Order: sequence, then C-alpha cells, then structure tokens
Amino acid sequence: MKITLYTVVSPDGITIENVLGYRSPEKALEAFEAWKKRFEAQGFYSSVDSGRIPLEDLDRSCEFDTTTAEVFPRKCSCCGKGMTEGYCIDGGEEYFCSDECLHTEYTKEEFEAKYAEGDGDSYWTEWPEEEIDLDDELIFEENF
Ligand SMILES: [Zn+2]
Repeated sequence: MKITLYTVVSPDGITIENVLGYRSPEKALEAFEAWKKRFEAQGFYSSVDSGRIPLEDLDRSCEFDTTTAEVFPRKCSCCGKGMTEGYCIDGGEEYFCSDECLHTEYTKEEFEAKYAEGDGDSYWTEWPEEEIDLDDELIFEENF
C-alpha cells in the first residue's frame, strides 16, 4: 500500500532525523522544531555546502516536502525488511522474508518439523494489504 509522508529537507538536501517522513504535516513540523533545538547549544547549523547557517535562517533554508512510500503488512524478524509474503513461524511469533533469513534461525529440517505437512502453525503465506494497520507503527521496505 502506498501512503503519503511529509518530509523536512535540511539545507544539505537530506531529510532530517534519517527517517522517510512523517504521517502528517503537524508531525513533520513537530520533528522540525525538535531537530532545530539540537543546534541551539552551538548556535548555528553546519551545512556541508553552505557552511554555517544561523539558526534564525534555518526556517528559510529547510524545505517541507512530501514523498510516497510503500508500507507492508509484516516485517522480517531477521533483516527487518517489509514483506507481503513469507514465512510465518508459530502462528506469528516470527516472520522471515526468505529462505536465507529463515535459515539464520531454523534449519530446513527444523522448519519442516514445525510445518508438519501443513498441520503446524508455521508456513509460507501471503498477507493482504487490508492487514496493514495505519495507526500502528508503519513497516517500510527497508529498515530505518
Ligand atoms: Zn529477511
């Protein structure tokens, strides 16, 4: 599922706080205010390209923008990647996106035993988009 996120771009052209974005413009503004406070002690923002930017000019030097991001119903317990399909272990205790990630915790034989010919609570499955809870912590393709 694709959603719109609100971002704050620093004078260096990267989003603040290393996050993809925020769910609402209000949240983005909140994060921006908190981010600016970090530079209060030194009294300026140190930009790679334009050097020192006085704090009072930071509002003008940053940009509010939006971005689109894909959100996922589940997250791999091993690599943290968002997933729409993958291994479900013990009815949802753990999830794995690939054989590679599964085998960091379970051997093929151990999984086969849990799978139990389809009678177990461990299996490969797909999760529909409807299972994404937008009020919950969002899961993106990559871990941030
Ligand atoms: Zn994984």
